[in-house]
Amino acid sequence: MERREILDLHTHTVASGHAYCTLREMAKAASEKGLKVLGITEHAPKMPGTCHNYYFHNLKVVPRQMYGITLLLGAELNILDFDGNVDLSQRELENLDVVIASIHGPCIVKGTREDYTRAYLKVMENPYVNIIGHPDDSRYPSDYEQVIQGAKKYHKVIEMNNHSLSPQSFRKGAEENDREILSLCKELEVPVVLSSDAHMDTKIGDFTYIYPFLKEVNFPEELILNYSIEALRPYLNRFPQE
Ligand SMILES: [Zn+2]
Ligand SMILES: [Zn+2]
Repeated sequence: MERREILDLHTHTVASGHAYCTLREMAKAASEKGLKVLGITEHAPKMPGTCHNYYFHNLKVVPRQMYGITLLLGAELNILDFDGNVDLSQRELENLDVVIASIHGPCIVKGTREDYTRAYLKVMENPYVNIIGHPDDSRYPSDYEQVIQGAKKYHKVIEMNNHSLSPQSFRKGAEENDREILSLCKELEVPVVLSSDAHMDTKIGDFTYIYPFLKEVNFPEELILNYSIEALRPYLNRFPQE
């Protein structure tokens, strides 16, 4: 029997400024799709149009159970420079359930492959960062061997981002890069998480563009964290109490 994904950790609501559903709509859609866990990871404050730091401070008011699913509330941080600085403080990060760190053009100056590689390696030293978001974007190239080795050393998860592979994506070179990333993760036994990066409820739990690549490299299921909460839990900051 095919194993089914029960979680999608990387999604955005209206609070991110360029996404279109509310948190409640997202939770409901996740439940209807049969997921057990939904991560809502709004863009951190340096992304133009996203929410203020106060949004992240006040997440305690949101119930972590809705429509029979567990909500993980976190952030998609912007890596701001090649020293791995990010746009929420350690005190702010400590209270988030799940933290993704990504490179986004509007939030970092242009660099070389060495610069971006260093940025990823430095951000992985941050104990509150759980996942490296869409490292498959050729606009911000990095040395994947070093990055995946870093993920192994610092106990981080590498994201396979469905949106990167979508025809709608601005990211470049994702196909080739994802092949290389998956091959290295397989070789070095580094876990990956499949993410939709949904900016609309219709995209939640959609990993269809990733499957052919998993098949192509014969990627081991035990390195995919989407099938069980137990497998995922050691890689999160915190998991809300039932
Ligand atoms: Zn992103
Ligand atoms: Zn995102």
